Amino acid sequence: MNQRRIFIKNTLIAGAAASFSPSFLMSATRTNKEKLGVALVGLGYYSTDLLAPALQLTEHCELKGIVTGSPEKIPVWQEKYGIQDKNIYNYENFDSIANNEEIDIIYVVLPPSMHMEYTVRAANAGKHVWCEKPMATSVEECTTMINACKSNGVKLAIGYRCQHDPNIQAYMKVAKERPFGKVKMITSAAGYFDGRTDHWKQKKDLGGGAMGDMGVYALQGARLATGEEPISVLAQASTTRPEIYHEVEETMMFQLEFPSGALASCQTSFGIQMNYLHVNYEKGWLKMEPHSSYNGNKGSMSDGTIINFSINSQQAKQMDEDAWSIKNNQNMLVPGEEGLRDIRVVEAIYKSARQNCVVKL
Ligand code: NAD
Repeated sequence: MNQRRIFIKNTLIAGAAASFSPSFLMSATRTNKEKLGVALVGLGYYSTDLLAPALQLTEHCELKGIVTGSPEKIPVWQEKYGIQDKNIYNYENFDSIANNEEIDIIYVVLPPSMHMEYTVRAANAGKHVWCEKPMATSVEECTTMINACKSNGVKLAIGYRCQHDPNIQAYMKVAKERPFGKVKMITSAAGYFDGRTDHWKQKKDLGGGAMGDMGVYALQGARLATGEEPISVLAQASTTRPEIYHEVEETMMFQLEFPSGALASCQTSFGIQMNYLHVNYEKGWLKMEPHSSYNGNKGSMSDGTIINFSINSQQAKQMDEDAWSIKNNQNMLVPGEEGLRDIRVVEAIYKSARQNCVVKL
């Protein structure tokens, strides 16, 4: 292990240790519960395959409830996770969760067009909210969500698991400390081949489209590697399967310009497997591949530094850190405002693709 890698690793560990030190814990406001109760809303792929299993590994939160419109899923979930009858809701009686003291956090894992409604209802029920990416389908919806959580005095976090991953934090640190000078050019890509033909990801009114789904990872790569917000975008949408992708784009290519002069060329697709981030600085480079996977994200830098931290479960780390922050009344690592920053750019990308011109932000 070379010196630079040791340095990055030690600094990250020291940072984590400081924020979890006993004196820090003592100074914060704490609730009495050791584990906060989480209710998952929407029991599709991500809840079933990733979040519920990860909630079996968490120290600061646990799976206590479910909200589902599919009654046939209830016995399966009860059997697997011991969820009590009184902690099971459907979309109609969901608001009565306000009276359930076992549920502290509602995790919205629905198609994006439903994120605003369920976030606002959860906040009005007095529960903290975790909401999956993309935060919503417009800046206006994101703002409504942030305001609803603020006015109800509850926290809002967006499920950007990668920001909890030390491998991603390593290049965010490079953006801050600039050991290679300014960022000149970024190339980032996030996509996979989706063989489904009738899914919300292909429907406009449910918030489908590659840009909101995988595109936010490519966008996050550019934003986090520069530490800046784009000032202009130029985008082009396309599809090779118009019989499936006629309402939304299968592929989006977008270019970003940042205030420092840094440029980014980004791609996302439901037709192409791609998962990387390349950053060219004034005096060096950084590459991550994979960049936005559930595990195994890794990279290297031009000075020989290797980025390759192993973590047990990204989702467990994300939910534990967010639950810890709620218990201790700290700011969320990825608050609603961060989800909104992406959607502001996503809106501009769609406008640029529609109007075939550069859109200033
Ligand atoms: P999914 O289609 O597998 O599940 C969606 C769930 O919503 C299903 O349980 C479905 O029954 C329910 N639902 C309720 N009303 C619906 C409607 N009108 N149309 C369709 N479904 C409806 O989707 P998913 O892959 O689990 O994605 C859910 C959310 O999680 C999305 O926001 C997605 O972007 C996000 N996600 C995040 C990650 C990540 O790595 N952070 C990974 C996968 C998905």
